[in-house]
Amino acid sequence: MQLFKNAQVYAPMSLGKKDVLVAGGKIIAIENSIELAANSFTTVIDATGKLLTPGFVDSLVHITGGGGEGGYTTRTPEMHINDAIQGGVTTVVGVLGTDAQTRSLENLLAKAYALEEQCLSVFCYTGSYHLPMVTITQSVKHDIMLIDKFIGVGEVAIADHRSSQITSHEMARLTSEARVAGMLAGKVGIVSIHVGDEPSKLDLLEQVISQFDIPITQYYPTHINRSKSLLESGIDFALKGGFIDFTTSTTAQIIEQGEIPAAEALALALEKNAPISQLTMSSDGNASLPIFDLKGNLIDLQMGLVSSLHQAMIDAVKQFNVPLELALASITKSPANILKLTKKGRIEIDMDADINLLNSQSLAIEAVYCKGKLVYSGGKSCLNIPFLSSLR
Ligand code: ZN
Repeated sequence: MQLFKNAQVYAPMSLGKKDVLVAGGKIIAIENSIELAANSFTTVIDATGKLLTPGFVDSLVHITGGGGEGGYTTRTPEMHINDAIQGGVTTVVGVLGTDAQTRSLENLLAKAYALEEQCLSVFCYTGSYHLPMVTITQSVKHDIMLIDKFIGVGEVAIADHRSSQITSHEMARLTSEARVAGMLAGKVGIVSIHVGDEPSKLDLLEQVISQFDIPITQYYPTHINRSKSLLESGIDFALKGGFIDFTTSTTAQIIEQGEIPAAEALALALEKNAPISQLTMSSDGNASLPIFDLKGNLIDLQMGLVSSLHQAMIDAVKQFNVPLELALASITKSPANILKLTKKGRIEIDMDADINLLNSQSLAIEAVYCKGKLVYSGGKSCLNIPFLSSLR
């Protein structure tokens, strides 16, 4: 058992100063004061002056690497577990992305299992950018129903030159498959949508929703902060009850070219009265971030990092005046609720004890617990990671 004493608890809504008791990896009590007898097999953690928040939920990460659109040397490496935990991320959703030829769902699942053995909670989407969908069992429905890690399908690309130029009928059929499989398996069965930079923006989703009997909440479009005009369409989509996601990994050049930083996009959406329950941020970790010169030649490559999620939360609070509770909700409660991850994203009794302790001023991460296990503390990973000493 662990007893966190005198923490300022953000659940993500502020609960004030509380003691939080954890046993068997679950939160079992939240009280003004909890006193336990000595020798009660409890580690007491003095959290005085610290913020205690849910572990962050990153709803889109290329855990086996992504990118590769600039040739084989631009294939990005797998996500390293330390990148997640140093950024306070305790739950990730793994996806394939553009390349479903040299990367596979089998490999995605193996990586998900590896990350879980190390401490993270991992869920995945079946499929990739393209039609016909890659699957493990030859059907999206079977994959979602029979493979526990798969909770939906995606990211399916729209408004992008790299997409399969999917029609509204094809999208409707795919969505129905995911939806019915989700219902039968007690999962969300959601369709994650990669929105590219073409002018059709969210039109395809609007068409499907108006032509077919498919609720708007069946879609979870991401990269909505890609441009001002996509952000405007996205906010409309959220005001109609849809979910929208902002990508936190970026570069100065991408921002210069018109991307809105995720933190600013969150502030703008809240200003337009989009409810926080519809708004999330995700890292798009391990996607490639190419840098081009003025003539369009590739001159450098960077890579999205899961830890950008934490920085975007700080930026939302400190630069764009988003209340801390809402900035936290966008990376905890909102994505967990959207994805029906019922034990994640909240400090509440019976939730998994995925807990971050933050510095109350800087919001820096001081300690991270995954299901009650200390995995990061004082700027260092507490995990035993294989092969690390052989790497140069
Ligand atoms: Zn994408």
